[in-house]
Amino acid sequence: MARSFNVPTIFNSEFVSKIKTARRDADPLKNDLSPSILDFGPLRFKLARHFGFCYGVENAIEIAYRAVEMNPDKRIFLLSEMIHNPRVNDDLVDRGIRFLRTTDGKQLIPFAELLPNDIVIIPAFGTTIEIETQLRELKVDIKSYDTTCPFVEKVWRRASQIGSKGYTVIVHGKRNHEETQATFSRARQGKNSSWDASMKSGNTANTPVFVVRDLEEATFLADFIRGKHDRETLLERFLDSFTPDFDPDTDLIRIGVVNQTTMLATETKEISSVLRQAMSERFGESEISRHFADTSDTLCYATNENQEAARALINDGASLAIVVGGSNSSNTSHLVELCSEVMPTYFIRSSKQIDGAQRIVHFDLESGRDITSESWLDLSSRVDILLTAGASCPDILLDEVIRTVVDLVPGTRNPADVLQTFTHIQTAH
Ligand code: SF4
Repeated sequence: MARSFNVPTIFNSEFVSKIKTARRDADPLKNDLSPSILDFGPLRFKLARHFGFCYGVENAIEIAYRAVEMNPDKRIFLLSEMIHNPRVNDDLVDRGIRFLRTTDGKQLIPFAELLPNDIVIIPAFGTTIEIETQLRELKVDIKSYDTTCPFVEKVWRRASQIGSKGYTVIVHGKRNHEETQATFSRARQGKNSSWDASMKSGNTANTPVFVVRDLEEATFLADFIRGKHDRETLLERFLDSFTPDFDPDTDLIRIGVVNQTTMLATETKEISSVLRQAMSERFGESEISRHFADTSDTLCYATNENQEAARALINDGASLAIVVGGSNSSNTSHLVELCSEVMPTYFIRSSKQIDGAQRIVHFDLESGRDITSESWLDLSSRVDILLTAGASCPDILLDEVIRTVVDLVPGTRNPADVLQTFTHIQTAH
């Protein structure tokens, strides 16, 4: 699906464009995951082979800005955050777009205030059938500027498909994330051949759906399948994580796994493998295809690429990591988790959170709030900074971080010179 999108130039970065172009030209098949090095002398930045806007995000941004440009006389609303990045969302608000809901589902503007002439933009991660139905009933235009990513729709189609064959859909995702809620809602309709058909028929016959957040939860579920837990313990532990009529005794005979596309792809594979193993032990390997659906083709290529590139970057080593992105961005938080396993990692939304070499304000995943770290930048020897960003982060934010940090380190080369001399992949050592 190679396609270029019309993304506003305000989101571009000189550094990142130069690096991405050089890497693409040198390695069009994307085989080389080694990091790119920006060498400022006493300071070096190591950038992942893949990072930043994915296909779905660029597609969503192009559609949203086109909606603004083409409809100067209409009221335009975003169902919720366009993507999980404040810079992009703030810019759209500045252009007159209004949000109907927050990302955690709080209603900001009642749907009842919408008029038939209004436009509502559906975000890249899609929405639930229930919300779509409410909006359709109000006769607002939700189709002309629907930015739902085709790779998210692919997951929905596959979930619907296996549901129609009698498999329970296990979703690897975060229960309250909009994409998981949308996938949950779409997967429920699986006993109909498509969600469009179910909407028209009004038939909401349900496929059982069950959400697991991580490998630990999947292992617990696998142990239930093996007979190690009783149904009450399972139902109590996973309260709110399954469809209302889910019955563990009858709905875990045939299963298939799909994911929220921004989860760790390797973890989704492990979850599939753990559950497949449990089904094999219970029903026999010769019967496995009747009990476990192969859905491996639904993993998002962009998430996979970014996470693989982040691992290669981390393995290359650095003094510290800066990960740039919205604090509610799921894929960015996974990059933060990967980096923080091996080095001090600072998760920031923008360069404004860097307060000299002494202080940095950064988002702490564990407490869910910003914290401050002192003396984060040790200038006593050469500093190597691993720099990366999630799929919803505009390149310009990395550019700003690079320039801000360069100004903090004495004796660095001029950014213009570094840019000019970056012509090829430079090895790290
Ligand atoms: S991460 Fe993948 S599925 Fe999600 S918006 Fe990007 S390309 Fe689409």
